[in-house]
Amino acid sequence: MYAADGVGLAANQVGESLRVFVYDCPDDDDRRHVGHVVNPRLVEADGVVLRGPEGCLSLPGLEAGTERYDHAVVEGVTVDGEPVRVHGSGWFARCLQHECDHLDGGLYVDRVKGWRRRRVMWQAGRSAWGRGGEGARY
Ligand SMILES: [Zn+2]
Repeated sequence: MYAADGVGLAANQVGESLRVFVYDCPDDDDRRHVGHVVNPRLVEADGVVLRGPEGCLSLPGLEAGTERYDHAVVEGVTVDGEPVRVHGSGWFARCLQHECDHLDGGLYVDRVKGWRRRRVMWQAGRSAWGRGGEGARY
């Protein structure tokens, strides 16, 4: 995750069939959130729906305006088995939703509609490599 300047990473992105993700992500107040969740469940995703640039370490060089709730709560356990409840707002809420999608087999592009989807799919066909855009990568 750090090597690719990402702010979140799910285990299945690196070939591990585990329900785990890690994060080191700021929220919209620039507060840094660092941690991990084992067996995460997205228990709240609500508030305002915001479209923001979103990228993914599994789709390098691509990003698209993606709608996400600006508030999310994930429950799970730590690596030591302690219950954990993680609250996210803004960018961090986006990260939590993105990583939960990964563990359910989804990618952010599955949530992109219309011309944004056509554009990102065109970009995917044009260049599978390189870096682009200003959005955070998870
Ligand atoms: Zn991702």
